[in-house]
Amino acid sequence: MITEHHLHSPIQPPRRTLMGPGPSDVSPSVLSAMASPTVGHLDPYFLQIMDEVQDMLRTLFHTTNELTLAVSGTGSAGMEACVVNLLEPGDKIVVCTNGVFGGRMADVASRIGAEVVQIERPFGEVFSVEEVGEVVKKEQPKVVGIVHAETSTGAVQSLKEISEVVHEADALLLVDCVTSLGGMPVKIDEWNIDAAYSGTQKCLSCPPGLAPVTFSSRATAAMDARKTKVSSWYLDMSMVRAYWGGSRAYHHTAPINMNFALHQALRLVLDEGMENRFSRHYANHCALKAGLQAMGIQFAVADDHQLPMLNAVKIPDGIDDATIRSQLLNWFGIEIGGGLGPMKGKTWRIGLMGESSQSSHVLLFLAALDQCLL
Ligand code: PLP
Repeated sequence: MITEHHLHSPIQPPRRTLMGPGPSDVSPSVLSAMASPTVGHLDPYFLQIMDEVQDMLRTLFHTTNELTLAVSGTGSAGMEACVVNLLEPGDKIVVCTNGVFGGRMADVASRIGAEVVQIERPFGEVFSVEEVGEVVKKEQPKVVGIVHAETSTGAVQSLKEISEVVHEADALLLVDCVTSLGGMPVKIDEWNIDAAYSGTQKCLSCPPGLAPVTFSSRATAAMDARKTKVSSWYLDMSMVRAYWGGSRAYHHTAPINMNFALHQALRLVLDEGMENRFSRHYANHCALKAGLQAMGIQFAVADDHQLPMLNAVKIPDGIDDATIRSQLLNWFGIEIGGGLGPMKGKTWRIGLMGESSQSSHVLLFLAALDQCLL
């Protein structure tokens, strides 16, 4: 029950060490950017910030795509923005599903009346070029959707060759980069990706609330050629881009302070240097893996497609998932994630994302887990 005392006290969230599947730890400078004075959404200062956010996102996505911006909403809003703008009712999409987020993309597409064909792989496995190529050739879809870093399983999907078979069939490639962006290379132009979305709360280490997206000129041409209106008013890129682009036409009031936070988070990424940041993520993943293996704990995903920022490991026999996770939280303030879907109760998901990818976090976690398993 909410007492009068609680209603009048300022909130005091506990300090956690965030080592789950997101959100990750947020740098104090990002939090303080968020606490800057709010300005209007058409204030010249804010328009400058928007331009800089777009520029920094282009650098991070390795793209020159003009239509690159931060959708107001979390990663799922980015997913929905891509799907609803690229597809009209009756259009066909092939979705590669090997975890929860491929499944979510298929669900979003089916809700707008698209024809959805799913290629499925067991959780933790990835797709071969041949199997995607075969289905795409047969189905001739408008769009092929795939997840780069499946946070639900800890598996990384390589994209470059899949992109080739998708484009041989003249389809558009849509990629979920929610967990990969900022923690490993995402090369939109080199890999010929037509549309991609991400989220702020993973390897960008910003609070959840914005979804970076980017669309190639092929994707924007497909959106311009639509015969029907986009089913979502809020996420209709033809209007959103007018605000982020030249005319600055009001569409919705941008979440000003979230964009301040993203601006600072992107500055931190670029200050560190992308290559340095990716090496840091990889090195901490290797350190965690060595420590866990010394404790007899195995990864749930094969060596050659493990994500550096999300480590899915098998819960040792006889150990209760929820007990250990609550001990980690209550005794040490460490949050990790449980398994999703068929991996529920069988795996732990240990995130080393952005600010949370630190050797001190790795050591703290290994020592804490050791205590909990005693
Ligand atoms: N896609 C992937 C790969 C994710 O990991 C997530 C979130 O965990 C999402 C999409 C959805 O993002 P959000 O929870 O920010 O809406």
